[in-house]
Amino acid sequence: MDCVFCKIRDGEIPSEKLYEDEDMFIIRDIEPKAAKHYLMIPKRHYKLISDMTDADAESFARALRKIPALSDKLGLNGGYRLMVNQGDDAGQTVFHLHVHILAGQPLDFPDLKK
Ligand code: AMP
Repeated sequence: MDCVFCKIRDGEIPSEKLYEDEDMFIIRDIEPKAAKHYLMIPKRHYKLISDMTDADAESFARALRKIPALSDKLGLNGGYRLMVNQGDDAGQTVFHLHVHILAGQPLDFPDLKK
């Protein structure tokens, strides 16, 4: 399987893991869209929320709940936004589910209908 996040997980593509546990790892996004832009990536490969097993859902919930504890390390104390792109309309480009963590500045929320 040719998946960039699986290759990072397995150390085949170098990328600094800022945090890692049995459920997930966190890296910096290579093309940051905010002052701080991280990716929280579940270790198991699946593309969409609809592909989640019950075990994946439990693992994902555990992973989300770790983020507040990483606020100091990641610089999230001013607030942060989590974003999960799903499918074509959302512009998903890497087909291994991941959560964008955006922070480090006021995050505007554009009206996408305009
Ligand atoms: P999405 O468009 O939601 O699928 O997000 C994929 C994200 O992965 C994009 O923001 C990319 O910049 C990021 N990305 C792709 N390759 C790498 C990489 N090797 N290291 C870090 N981030 C990456």
